[in-house]
Amino acid sequence: MDLLDAARLVTFGEPGAHDRGVAVAVVSERRPPAPEVLLRHLLGRQAEVPAEDVELRYGCPECGARHGRPLVEYPTTPSGAGWFGDALQSGGVVVAAVGLRRRLGVGMAVVGDGAPALDRAAFHPVEVAALAAADPDAAPALRARMWARKAAVIRALGHSGLLEPSAIALAPTEAGQAAAIVRGAPELGDGWTEARTHDLALPDGRVAAIAMLP
Ligand SMILES: [Zn+2]
Repeated sequence: MDLLDAARLVTFGEPGAHDRGVAVAVVSERRPPAPEVLLRHLLGRQAEVPAEDVELRYGCPECGARHGRPLVEYPTTPSGAGWFGDALQSGGVVVAAVGLRRRLGVGMAVVGDGAPALDRAAFHPVEVAALAAADPDAAPALRARMWARKAAVIRALGHSGLLEPSAIALAPTEAGQAAAIVRGAPELGDGWTEARTHDLALPDGRVAAIAMLP
């Protein structure tokens, strides 16, 4: 199986923009690839180096725990700019995404997971209000999409033990398939208004998002 069948590659972000990147979703209920393997292949393809030469480090530089996105130690670009990447598995779906110069994270959620009772822990009050205002039939899909976006931001941040998910809010941008952080928190640092998440369509009632942070 060619892991990177070109038909599965999706670019996100505006052409020429800093939040431009490439993502791939592989669906295989029987034998999904390991997220690390898919990420290695995608990075190798985009950076034009052999997948086996890609070096990923999963230990958090702050605390050593294996949480959040991995660090891409090799390759770098000829100008020394860094690659960023992340990959996740949910059931038989594996999603990987890579981009340049911006911290990147992948989030996934299953439509129907979560519940209104948990919304206040996961979502900012303005997001809770948006969910409450949604058509009841559409709310589970909206909740999943909102959580995938937020989970992607949290993974892009990496060491984020201080960040409560409900401390930040995301909302769709006017440009369509992207969302922006509209309520920030100190842990996000400066420039958080430039952060973007991009939705990725998946089968099987799953949704994914890719976050790129300044
Ligand atoms: Zn950490």
